[in-house]
Amino acid sequence: MCYAIPGKITGFQDKKVIIDYFGEKRYAHNDFVKVKTGDYIYAQGGFVINVVPEKEAREILEFWKETFFELRKVDLRLSKLEGKSGASKRTRAILDAALEGRKIKFEEYVHLLSLEDTEDKEYLYKVANFIRRKYHKNACCVHGIIEFSNHCSNNCLYCGIRKDNASLPRYRMTEAEILDTVKSAVDTYGFKALVLQSGEDPEYDVDRIAKLIKRIRTENDVLIFISVGEVGKTGLKKFYDAGARGTLIRFETSNENIYARLHPGDSLMRRMKEIEEAKKTGFLVLTGGLVGFPGQTDEDTVKDILNAAALAPEMYSFGPFIPHPQTPFAEKQSPPLDKILKTIALLRIADPMGKIVSTTALETLAPVEGRNRGFMAGANSMMLNLTPDNYRKHYQIYPGRIHENVSVDLQVREAVSDLRKLGRAPTDLGAGV
Ligand code: SF4
Repeated sequence: MCYAIPGKITGFQDKKVIIDYFGEKRYAHNDFVKVKTGDYIYAQGGFVINVVPEKEAREILEFWKETFFELRKVDLRLSKLEGKSGASKRTRAILDAALEGRKIKFEEYVHLLSLEDTEDKEYLYKVANFIRRKYHKNACCVHGIIEFSNHCSNNCLYCGIRKDNASLPRYRMTEAEILDTVKSAVDTYGFKALVLQSGEDPEYDVDRIAKLIKRIRTENDVLIFISVGEVGKTGLKKFYDAGARGTLIRFETSNENIYARLHPGDSLMRRMKEIEEAKKTGFLVLTGGLVGFPGQTDEDTVKDILNAAALAPEMYSFGPFIPHPQTPFAEKQSPPLDKILKTIALLRIADPMGKIVSTTALETLAPVEGRNRGFMAGANSMMLNLTPDNYRKHYQIYPGRIHENVSVDLQVREAVSDLRKLGRAPTDLGAGV
C-alpha cells in the first residue's frame, strides 16, 4: 500500500521540478536526490522524496489510473453545493462572500463559530468542503507519527505527560527502536512523511536528535517532520542540516495571558518566535491550537485561526481540549464535536490553500464519525500513529486516545477504507500552481 502516487518529471523551473500528475502540472523542491526529465518520483510536502523505478511506477499508476478518477467522481459528488440552503440570511451572506473569495470580517468568523442551528452549520461545512475540493481536489496527506519519548521537563496544565504526572509510566525509545519503526513505516507500509515527536526530553538533546535524523535520512527515503518543543535558532538549523524539512509546533492559543497560564515558565512570544524562525530556516511548518479549553472564548478561537493563517503554514492542526485526570484540568469538559468541525471549516475559509489535519484528538472525541466529519468540514490530512504498541498507550497527552490499542496494520486499512468512501486519494505532490 502506498501513501503517495508517483508523478513523472517533465522539466525544471528554477530550483523546482515540474511533474506531470494524472495530466496536471505540479511543482516540487528537490533537495535530496539526483533527478532528470522522464524520471518517476514520489513527492511529499512539495519535496521530491525519491526516484521510483519506471517499471514499478508504471504498475502503480496503472493500478491508480481508474481508481483515481473514480475517487475524484465520488469526491465531486460529495462536495457539491446543490439545492437551496435553509441557513439563515446572515450565514448565507457570509458564506457566499467566502465562496467568492472576499475577505471575511472578524465578527463574521465569530458568527460562524457560534452557529447553533443545524442548517446553518451544515451549510458552513458544505461550503468549506467545496472550497477544499476547489483548491486541493481529492488529495489527502497521510503522515505517520512516532512518539519516541514521553519524558517532558515542562508542566503544561492540560497535558497528561507533564512532568508532575508521577503516575504515568515513562518510556524513551532507543535509537535502534526508532530506526526499526521508521524502516517498517517506510518499507512495509509505504509512508513518505513521518513526524518524530516527544516531550521536551533532556536526554534526547538537539545533537542526539540531529544525529538520528541524519541516520534516518541516509537509510530511508522519507520526509522528516520534527516535533520536540522549542529548540531555538541553532537547534532548528541543526535539524534542517541533518535532513529534516518539517516541524510540528503548535502555539495552542494566541491569547498571551492564557498562554502564560497554561505553559508555566514559557511565553507566547517565545513560541511565535520559534515558529517564525522555523519558517525562516526553510521548514514546512505544521501549527495550530487547542480548542475548548477552560476560559477560552469564541473570539479567542477566531484569533487563533487568523493568527495561524497569518503564519501561512504548510498544515494546520487544531484539536479539541480533552481533560486528563492527572492534570489541574481533570474536572473540566471537552468542547462539543461541532465546535471542532466549525473551527476546521473556518480554517478552510481563512486559508483555502493550506492543508488541515483531521486530528486524532477529534477522532477520540467522536470515535465513530470524528475523522470523516472533519474531512467533510474542510480537512484534507491525517496522521496515523506508528509508535510501537508497548509504548503508545503511555504517550498520554490526553486520556483514551483512539488507536491506543489498534495495530498499525488495522489503522492503515481503516484509513484507506475511510478515504475511499469519501473519494479521497492518499497523495501529496506539492503545489499545483
Ligand atoms: S504539551 Fe508538550 S511541552 Fe507541554 S507538558 Fe506536554 S509534552 Fe511537555
